[in-house]
Amino acid sequence: MINAATQKIIEERLLSLPVVQYAWLESGEIEFSQRVREICRQECPRYGTSWSCPPAVGAVEECRERCMRYEGAFVFTTIAEVSDIENLQETLGTRRGHEEITGQIREIFRDCGFETLALSGDSCARCGECAYPGGPCRHPKNMIPCIEGFGIVVPLLAEKAGIEFDNGGNIVTWFGLILWR
Ligand code: SF4
Repeated sequence: MINAATQKIIEERLLSLPVVQYAWLESGEIEFSQRVREICRQECPRYGTSWSCPPAVGAVEECRERCMRYEGAFVFTTIAEVSDIENLQETLGTRRGHEEITGQIREIFRDCGFETLALSGDSCARCGECAYPGGPCRHPKNMIPCIEGFGIVVPLLAEKAGIEFDNGGNIVTWFGLILWR
């Protein structure tokens, strides 16, 4: 468990960011599923195009083991309003803002002395074009892999965290996860 004083420092800094909901979990509470990985492989256009997505991130069991090396899991959401939630291009266009906030929250944890693994709701968008597969990741310490690409079951994560999975209407709900130790 995080100590109360550090938690207070982190939560005070979060007040300056547009985080909608957050929760503190133990990493062991995260559930993984090969089925999520299969959906990535069959349906996501980012599969096989980034160091932050499968298969480059390794098998689901390897991803689980990486996550279990961390003590705690900080789960949070941000939201964005779009004109049509069914418009994938418009919806995905809001991911940069969420990734930016995910990076800022990771910095808050790092400032408090934690080692972190940050995951976000889509593949890493740090570079205009990912170096995969022709060369190594350009920013391995700051890349942000996709939560679902790790095989994490986000609806179960939301349920455990007591966080809304879907905010309805034309609101895009983005999840982020900071694993810390
Ligand atoms: S930092 Fe750049 S090279 Fe590395 S995963 Fe992200 S987009 Fe790809």
